[in-house]
Amino acid sequence: MCATLAANRSEYNPPIKRTGKQPGEVPAAAAATYLCDLQELEFYLWDVQKLDNVLGQPPFRDLDRHEVRALLEKAAQFARKLSTAYQSSDRYPAHLRDDGTVAAPPGFEALWKECRAEWQWLRRQSETLADSEPSLPQVLNQIILEMFVGANPSLMSYGGFTPAALTLLELSATPEQRAAFEPELRAGRWDATFCATEAQAGSDLSGISTSAAPIEGEVYAIRGEKKYITAGMHPLVENTVHLVLARIEGSQPGFFSLSCFLVPRYRREADGMFVDNNVRCARVERKMGLKGVPNTLLQFGEAGETQGYLLGGRKNVALLQLTPLMRRARIGTSQIAIGLASSAYLHSLTFARERIQGRRFEESASTTAQPVAIIEHADVQRMLLDMKARVEGCRGIIGKLTREVSQIQILKAAGAPRSDMERSARLVTLYTPIVKAYVSDQAWLIATTAIQVHGGEGYLADRPIEQYARDIKILSIWEGTNYIQSQDLVRDKLGLGRNAVAMRFFLEDINAFIAGFLPDVGLDEEVHLLADCANALKDALDGIRDMASDGSIAQVPYYSKRFLDMFGDVLAAWVLLENACAAQRLLTDGTGTYDRAFLTGKIKTARYFVHEALPTVLVRAAQIAKRVAVPVASNEFGFPGQVGVAL
Ligand SMILES: Cc1cc2nc3c(=O)[nH]c(=O)nc-3n(C[C@H](O)[C@H](O)[C@H](O)COP(=O)(O)OP(=O)(O)OC[C@H]3O[C@@H](n4cnc5c(N)ncnc54)[C@H](O)[C@@H]3O)c2cc1C
Repeated sequence: MCATLAANRSEYNPPIKRTGKQPGEVPAAAAATYLCDLQELEFYLWDVQKLDNVLGQPPFRDLDRHEVRALLEKAAQFARKLSTAYQSSDRYPAHLRDDGTVAAPPGFEALWKECRAEWQWLRRQSETLADSEPSLPQVLNQIILEMFVGANPSLMSYGGFTPAALTLLELSATPEQRAAFEPELRAGRWDATFCATEAQAGSDLSGISTSAAPIEGEVYAIRGEKKYITAGMHPLVENTVHLVLARIEGSQPGFFSLSCFLVPRYRREADGMFVDNNVRCARVERKMGLKGVPNTLLQFGEAGETQGYLLGGRKNVALLQLTPLMRRARIGTSQIAIGLASSAYLHSLTFARERIQGRRFEESASTTAQPVAIIEHADVQRMLLDMKARVEGCRGIIGKLTREVSQIQILKAAGAPRSDMERSARLVTLYTPIVKAYVSDQAWLIATTAIQVHGGEGYLADRPIEQYARDIKILSIWEGTNYIQSQDLVRDKLGLGRNAVAMRFFLEDINAFIAGFLPDVGLDEEVHLLADCANALKDALDGIRDMASDGSIAQVPYYSKRFLDMFGDVLAAWVLLENACAAQRLLTDGTGTYDRAFLTGKIKTARYFVHEALPTVLVRAAQIAKRVAVPVASNEFGFPGQVGVAL
């Protein structure tokens, strides 16, 4: 176990004292709550993701193992520091002051400044290569960000859209717009938000009613109200650029006639002076989790004219322009999920080693048997192994995506034609909704299992576990609910099975792994099951295609989320078997810095997941083949009608 995890043990018992302080009072400084396992992360980077194959290839920095280790240790230390304000932000949340400004939780301002000073370079890294700074491979970025967002997701959600906004500006803004906004965003002096949701327009953005009336050129008067906006107003930056979805007056109703506007909180006048752009925060929502970051009801044009600048000067193309932003936001969601879930798992492991309760099952009748740590109980081991498998599986699924992103970056840097990037680009697009939905759902499962391992302690606010669960829940809802992700996967990415080029690429890759599998790993049975499940997934997609073409298209949404879950399970099993192969290679050739149990544990973890979780893919495929679909009229279910007070 790595130093980071071990070091945390001594201060494992929770930081927050019950002081009876009122909101607004500054809580006592707290200990770190975040746990990570650097050995696991290094195994993932070097032995599974083969980081050495991409480091040094343009556009990536050339770092050796020592430098990467130093970077990871520095990141882990900073993550621990970030987590000192994690629990207190839950007790002393961001809130609206009487004067209409928003207060951040105690400690956030100082940590934000430190993050900006030390790590802003990470946030401004671009995928588009428009800037010449050599960057880190996405997979290494992924791990560092996992630590930061896992340590304090609330704080890291401030300006969470800034990296995506930079990409958006590079790809879609006019040169003048780039000059006006990019330098400040890059420096972290300003941040960005994404303003899509309105009261009547959540999953269905075609209902957006925020309007844009032309003033002059690209300048429009924006009027409307946006709901839930993350970090829509706060004191950590000098200015905020809101990316607002609105409808230009006279545009058609519907989804495809939305335009994107850059709406600064303070706008620069012709004389260079900044003036209030009349963006108001009418409310900060009270919510279940992520209390350290304000979710705001923003009003544009209520208190006076709010000016917005039409992105790229292009009308009615917001959804096209925003595709890269949405993709980054979805991947970002999965990183929060894995960061929190991984820490929840490691807390559970630590707790299970310390908590003494009960005797071994086979000694339960003995009067002399000693009580044992709960980790000795088979059911606790089952829960820990389940969490371990899902954490490692999910991290690896994100890695499948980030690896393809890196591949595209390498090809771009080498000046390769676009056609060479087609395969990776298709896979990135395919994996994005799966990564968002599967990983966020798994994280919720992991968090609830972590509470169970802790028993009553897991239900108490003293430990961070219940906060992890509350913070994780939003991840299946925002950036498009997980059902919406499955709709995107089945309908848009896979063309309802009719035009599934990406599926073909995926099957080629997984079948190449299956064909090249090492027999000496001793997992032949498991690899055969993986092959069966990959085939079942393909059959399920064919079944969906048939529904779409034989007049039963209304049944497709009934199955689409299950199809996404099947896909996630197959990917996770593939990843875990890859881990097992990498471990077996090390066991054969010399274990390097890893201990044997760490490596044999990889093989056991893969075996567990393949036998415990993967077979549901076959069950789901059979359901899709049989079309055990429900009738689509909601009044056929026997749901009660008007529900009143029970008498
Ligand atoms: C903490 C938090 C932060 C947020 N941050 C932001 C932000 O920064 N910017 C922003 O713009 N928005 C933000 N949102 C809004 C968020 O993206 C929406 O809540 C989300 O897209 C879902 O919309 P909704 O809440 O209106 O749910 P609804 O769309 O009403 O959905 C309710 C349920 O119905 C299902 N459903 C809806 N339509 C369909 C359909 N066609 N078929 C099948 N099922 C369907 C959904 O899957 C869901 O289960 C945030 C929300 C929260 C709670």
